Amino acid sequence: MGTSRNYQTQGVILKQAKLGEFDKIITIYTPDFGKLRAVAKGACRAKSKLGGNMEPLTHSLMLLAKGRNLDIVTQAQTINSFLALKNDLWRMACGLYVLELIDAFTIESAENHLLFELLLDSLHQLSEPDISETALRYFELHLLHYLGYRPQLRRCVTCDSPLKPVVNFLSPSKGGLICPACNSEENIRHEQIEVIARKPSFPLSVEALKVLRLWQSCDYATSRRVKVKPGLSRELEQALCEYIRYIVQRELKSLTWLKQLGKETVSP
Ligand SMILES: [Zn+2]
Repeated sequence: MGTSRNYQTQGVILKQAKLGEFDKIITIYTPDFGKLRAVAKGACRAKSKLGGNMEPLTHSLMLLAKGRNLDIVTQAQTINSFLALKNDLWRMACGLYVLELIDAFTIESAENHLLFELLLDSLHQLSEPDISETALRYFELHLLHYLGYRPQLRRCVTCDSPLKPVVNFLSPSKGGLICPACNSEENIRHEQIEVIARKPSFPLSVEALKVLRLWQSCDYATSRRVKVKPGLSRELEQALCEYIRYIVQRELKSLTWLKQLGKETVSP
């Protein structure tokens, strides 16, 4: 202990996989090392001291030893087990969606302190009694920001003119909103080259734009004070999920589950 081969870090467990009969490979998101994969030896044994601290949706403090390939978790202590998330199916689905997005968007060993703070903050928010699905939208929007994909919501990404309070068009491939004039030109061009398999942009209402702009520049507490009606909530969900799907280029497993649960808010 105490040699340079050992180091300590806090982190949120993103996922786990069995390794052999008794061990686990865990994927952790840490503030100082970004995403990290490590071996938790004996974590699958019934009496393992590591086991419970290595479950996904757990914030733990860990001592690791440098390994030849993967580092090895030698000790772990739970900082927050987020029981409110684990004891409620809908909240758990929300939490797992957050973890899956962090995993999908990050590579190993790339630190991002702000993203770690957002992850922890989001898990805390989702544990609150009166939380709604809009917390996930706030998370998605800020995740995009911290990873360099912040959508441009003020000016048209094609002609750079300020956007008017009308229905504008969100384009994931262009990185933000397109004004109606540029969007019709864009559509004509797409029809000419017969790229109609996936629409290049989709409409975004004035109300949805207002909410997204506010969320982009406020904290979680302020975002929660915005009352979003179910119709608008659906629109925001579709807009951000479509945007994210374009970037990660695949369907997210936890999102499918979350949609199946289909719950707008948790009853108090
Ligand atoms: Zn334009």
